[in-house]
Amino acid sequence: MTDLTLEGVSKLYEETAALREVDLSVADGEFFTLVGPSGCGKTTTLRTIAGFEEPTSGSVRFDGEEMTGVPPEDRDVGVVFQNYALFPHMTVAENVGYGLRFRDPPAGTSRKERVSELLELVDLAGMGERQPSQLSGGQQQRVSLARALAPEPSLLLLDEPMSALDARLRETLRRQVKRIQSELEITTVYVTHDQAEALAISDRVAVMHAGNVEQVGTPKEIYRRPATRFVAEFVGDNNVFEGEVLERSGDEIRVRISSSEFVLPDSSGVGDAGTGLESGDRLTFCIRPEALTPTAETNRFPVTVETSEFLGESVRVHGRWNDTPIVLRLEEPPATEELTVGFAPNGAHVVEFDVDFDAEFE
Ligand code: ATP
Repeated sequence: MTDLTLEGVSKLYEETAALREVDLSVADGEFFTLVGPSGCGKTTTLRTIAGFEEPTSGSVRFDGEEMTGVPPEDRDVGVVFQNYALFPHMTVAENVGYGLRFRDPPAGTSRKERVSELLELVDLAGMGERQPSQLSGGQQQRVSLARALAPEPSLLLLDEPMSALDARLRETLRRQVKRIQSELEITTVYVTHDQAEALAISDRVAVMHAGNVEQVGTPKEIYRRPATRFVAEFVGDNNVFEGEVLERSGDEIRVRISSSEFVLPDSSGVGDAGTGLESGDRLTFCIRPEALTPTAETNRFPVTVETSEFLGESVRVHGRWNDTPIVLRLEEPPATEELTVGFAPNGAHVVEFDVDFDAEFE
């Protein structure tokens, strides 16, 4: 088992800075996910960990040992890519056995036994003699996983392994991957652009944006307490508001947005006296759709409904309040085009604030 550290890792491709001083640490046995939009640097991070790319600067360490200059085959990592990359002319068993080309099976186990063990692990027992073309996409991806796990690597790296599969299969495979990972307790770095998948599968998540890590946290922290506006908007539906602080008193902050006033709790992310937040400062806060309800008694405002989507267990409503897009999660489709909704002060979370520090020291 292995822990993994990236310190100040940058990667430049001529004009492009694919990674900008990325710091990450992944604990032994952890399921850690890199999530972010296309081009944010997820794959480059994974390839740098695997050794397919060398960082322009910074350091990658496994269990404290510097990996710079160590070729991929000597890093003890198993990698699964998006396109299954199976050899079409080899059987399933031969494909899995190929994973053992650099390394003998664990002591006391024959190559053949190890291959059947792995096929069983990925729920493909008895399929060893098939050709990859005789398997579904999900099954082929499980063969890739078995092949990557065959030499018992200390680190498993998965680059969008499910993106070529349909939604239903993705969910099944996701559960299987998670089960196998926790059974083997193997340190895993998983790349996806799908934030829902990231929240569902991971112990911790790093949200990336333009070569930077915006936030690292448990799925719950990332969802409930996004550190930046980018994270708030990227992870799940969110309502983002910008306003001006009118007053901060006791444990409340009063905020103005156009001609309306809202009350936020002072514990919503800027509570420390040290922040120096005061009248006139700008503030960005977000509210999850489920916290914005027609029955809330405080912080009410009108919403013009634009579209409604029936999701089965709830209805997602898109609308607008002045220029601000609003998304709601309701039990029933709205009966009218104009609604009034509100939120309890503690349903809001402050993501960014612009404190005028100069004013504080005048
Ligand atoms: P996606 O989800 O689309 O795969 P990503 O988050 O994995 O995106 P990367 O593939 O890591 O992003 O790319 C990060 C940035 O680096 C992008 O702007 C990309 O165009 C650039 N890049 C990646 N590889 C190279 C390369 N070999 N040469 C030049 N630029 C590259």
